[in-house]
This record gives sequence, C-alpha cells and structure tokens, in this order.
Amino acid sequence: MLVKRGIAVSPGVAIGPALVLGAESFRIPQRFVSIDAVDAEVARFRQAQETVCLDIEGNERLTAERLGQHYAAIFSAHLMMLRDERMLEEIESLIRQKSFSPEFAVSRVLRQYARKFQTLGGPYLAERAADLYDLEKRMLRQLLGERREELRHLTVPVVVLAHNLTPSETAGLDRKMVLGFVTEAGGATSHTAILAGALEIPAIVGIGQFLDNVTGGETVIIDGSHGSVIVDPDDETLAKFQVSRERFKTAGQRLEAMRQLPSETADHIPIKLLGNIEFPQEAESTRQRGAVGIGLYRTEFLYLQENREPTEEDHYQAYRTVLEAFPHEPVIIRTLDLGADKMPGPLRTEYPEGVNPALSIRSIRLSLQHLELFKTQLRAVLRAAVHGEVRVMFPLITTLLEFRQAKMILSDVAEDLEEQGIPFRRDIPVGIMVEVPSAALLAEEFAREVDFFSIGTNDLIQYTLAVDRADPHVSSLYRAGDPSILKLLRMVITAALKHDVPVSICGQMCSDPLFVPLLIGMGYRTISVTPQVIPELKEIIRNLTIARAEQIAARAEAMETARDVESYLRGELRKICPEQVS
Ligand code: PEP
Ligand code: MG
Repeated sequence: MLVKRGIAVSPGVAIGPALVLGAESFRIPQRFVSIDAVDAEVARFRQAQETVCLDIEGNERLTAERLGQHYAAIFSAHLMMLRDERMLEEIESLIRQKSFSPEFAVSRVLRQYARKFQTLGGPYLAERAADLYDLEKRMLRQLLGERREELRHLTVPVVVLAHNLTPSETAGLDRKMVLGFVTEAGGATSHTAILAGALEIPAIVGIGQFLDNVTGGETVIIDGSHGSVIVDPDDETLAKFQVSRERFKTAGQRLEAMRQLPSETADHIPIKLLGNIEFPQEAESTRQRGAVGIGLYRTEFLYLQENREPTEEDHYQAYRTVLEAFPHEPVIIRTLDLGADKMPGPLRTEYPEGVNPALSIRSIRLSLQHLELFKTQLRAVLRAAVHGEVRVMFPLITTLLEFRQAKMILSDVAEDLEEQGIPFRRDIPVGIMVEVPSAALLAEEFAREVDFFSIGTNDLIQYTLAVDRADPHVSSLYRAGDPSILKLLRMVITAALKHDVPVSICGQMCSDPLFVPLLIGMGYRTISVTPQVIPELKEIIRNLTIARAEQIAARAEAMETARDVESYLRGELRKICPEQVS
C-alpha cells in the first residue's frame, strides 16, 4: 500500500483502477491476457524487444558517425540492458505464469529494476534508472503501437494518474468514465484545479514524482477532501474509503443547507472560517463556499506555476483578483515560502539541495537573502492594500530579529513608494506564522511586537516531532494530536489572549473535523481551512457549545499520547456529528 499526499483541489472520494498517463500519455489498456493467448503474447514481446534493439543499434551507429564513439556508448549501455537475458526471462515468466500482458510485464520489471538503482543512490545509478525508464517508454511505444488509447475514448471507469493534465484535457474529461484524477505536477494547475472543482471530480495536484511507482490497473483511492492518494489499498483501508465515498455523496445534500447559515456555536459564539488558497482564481469559489476572508494566501505558487520570477505587476494583479472576491474582509497575504520542496528552477541552481532543505534556506530566510525579490512582492502588497483589508504575514519566523528585519524592509518599501508618489496603504497589520517551535515558545515576546499570529501546524508538527511532513516512511509519527503540539498551541493562545493579539490557525490540523472541537475549546475563534471543508466544519461548530468544547479541550490536554488524544476526539466527534465519523 502506497500513500502520497498532494494539494486537494476537488473534494470527494474516488476508487477505481489506475489509468497511468506519463509525460507521453501511455496507457496500458490491459493487465492480463487469456491463457491460450500466452504463446502469441510472448512472441509479440520478443518481437517488440528485437525491433527496439534494432532501433537502438541504428541510433548507436548514427551517433558514432556524428559525435564519436564516446557518445554512442550511451546506446551500447541501453542495448546491453535490453538484451539482458535474465531480465527478459523475468518478463517472459510473468507473461507465462501470471498471464500478464507484455505491456504490464515490461513496465513492471523495468520499473522494479529502475527503483532498485534509485534506492542504491549516487549519480551513476540514478542515470541507469533513467535509462531503464527510457527503455520502458520505447518498449511501450513499440508494443502499444496503434493501440495507444486516448483519454477521450474510455470505455470503463478509471482513476487517472497523470504527470500533468492541460486545462483542455481536464475540461474534456468524461465525468462518467473519469472517477477522479491525480497529477504529479503543480504547473498550470490553477485552471486544472478550478476545472476539477467545477466538474466535481475528486482531484489532487502537485503530488510530486509518483508515476514511477504505478503501472496501471492497480486499485487507487483518491481522497480529494484531504489530499491523499492510496495505491493498492489493503482490505481494511478499501472498506473504510468505500464508506467515506457513500457518506460524501449523502453529506453533500445535507451540507448544502449549511452554506447560508452563520458559523456560530450552538450558544451563538461566532467562529470565523477563513479560506486557504494557492491561486488567486480560487478566491471567488472560496467565498461561495462560505469563507469570510482569506486566512492564508500561499503566494509562492505564483513562482512555481510559471517557473519564472513574477514581476511586481504579476503580484499586484494576483492580489487584486483575490481582493475582488473579498473587498471588505481580511485577506492575509503570506510572503514567499520558497525553498525546501518548493524551490523554483532558477533558484535551484543557486541553492543546490542542502543537507536538509527543510532546515536550510527557506521561506523568510530566502526572502531576506534576496531583497530585490522580497521588495518586489512587498511593493505589490502595499499597493494592493488600497483596495481592501490586506494583512501581510511572514512565514517560518524563528527569531525576533528576523521579524524586526522583515518589518524594517516593509517600511523601506513604503518609503520608496511614498517618494515615487505611488498610491499605497502603510498601516496594514503585520503578522507572523507560528510554525517553528521557537516562535511558539517565545509567543509572549512576539506578542508584544506582532499584529497577529497564524499557526502553521503543518510545519509546527514537522519541526516539533522531527518528522518530515512529506516522508511516507515516518507518516505514522506525524501526529497533530501529540501532547507536545497541544502544549505549544496552548502557549500561543495564552500569550495572544494576554496581549490581545488576534490569533488564528491555518495549518491542515484545523481542516480536520476531528480537531475542531478541541481548538475551539482551547479558545481559538478563527481558523483558516481548505475551502472545500467549510460546510462540514460549520456543521460541527453549530452542533457544539463552548462549555462542551472547553471540557473536551481540558480532557484532551491532560492526556499523554497522540493515540489517546485522537481516539478520545474521535469518540467526541461521533457524539457531536455522527455523520462525519468513519
Ligand atoms: C503550515 O506550515 O502549517 C502552513 C500553513 O504552511 P505551508 O503548509 O504552506 O507550509
Ligand atoms: Mg508552513
């Protein structure tokens, strides 16, 4: 069972066989062949292998003539691999003994070898892995020939796993045949994401390199509400998600009624639900889902989408789009959170992967080292602020000096705009993300200087528990319910209330229904969430009293392990909103 996480862009649960579209959109149409066709299929495989070898020999000759023997050796290596009798026998025996189709068997064996090379590490072996993927493509191209199928001609329902889908491919998806989709890439996703939402197809984007692990035909679960993909689920997981899928369908009708109702507890205490967005085009649908502002606009996607440095005008236009959807409500623009897993091409060469990129030049650290880049963004923020209730937020703040430095640069930018006679707004609130344990531990000190806090639990959990948030090997250790996390959340709310500093949470923890009663009970009154979950969360909030939430928080905070906390919270959620507990 393989579990991956990405950006949830369209909610719902999809379960079905994988249709894999690599960069070249290959699809393996058939995993198995009938027993009496085995001999013919083995012959077809051997024939394809011979043709591909001849083709490579041709390339080898041509390259030797034009560039010399040294370059031609690349193809000699490919030939050696594709003529490796042990590997060929492995493929043949999968066709004979398991009735695998040649396409499926080739893909499976070559990818297995490639993965082995990759895990051994080192640049030489990584290149060999790349050679194997290349060979796989050549073989599939040969084997599939005319039979390569197109997305538009699907005859059975599938879950599409693609390197990327263009907006026009997405718009053309057949909703009856495409149960859901996942893309590796984050590029061009603004339109793809919006279209997925509009089509109401569960979808996840920006999942990172992933297709090497799937061949096609495997059972895949997409949880479009929470951004996870599961390949080859075990029976227990499959059963769990089958229930969630049905529940999602009926919940949709029930939750529709929530849209118009205020977000307040049963005893009428308002709880502000803001939205987290990555692309400006999402702002309007976020408002329609019931958000009363934007609690986190992840502006770094402006870079990641285009893979080029956005101009001041690009920033400004993006912010204007968000402010058009929310002209009178708070819009928190987070300055660039580049680095770690979000390093755009041009900067990647300047900062080759560090020993540990999550602890290296990232986020505000990167902005403070690239003042021109930082100032360009801040100028656009201050200019856009004329049109709404803009707040600016610095990510990954670790020390007070860092915050002071960032704030000073903001004043420099304001001075420049003033001198140039460009309209802007100076008095915007300036806050920080609390996502490094040091900031939570120093919440008292920060509270004297910042205009607001927003807690980024995604990173706070990663840095507190020393668990890489993207690493599936340690995902079971990544627990929002860990008592250490609850202690940090308690420290921040205590400092915020004492100094009368507005505080919210924008990490995924508060998009998870499980933790909402606890957070309200701790005193949090504003949460910024994945827009799609707003109706669900509103339902929980409206079924809860503050007194009940406070009892829940007191009990949970007295517990010693994440497991106890989470199972207690699950029990409580079942009482508050039985429909929402799987
Ligand atoms: C967080 O760390 O919780 C957060 C909201 O920021 P991001 O997920 O963008 O790192
Ligand atoms: Mg973060």
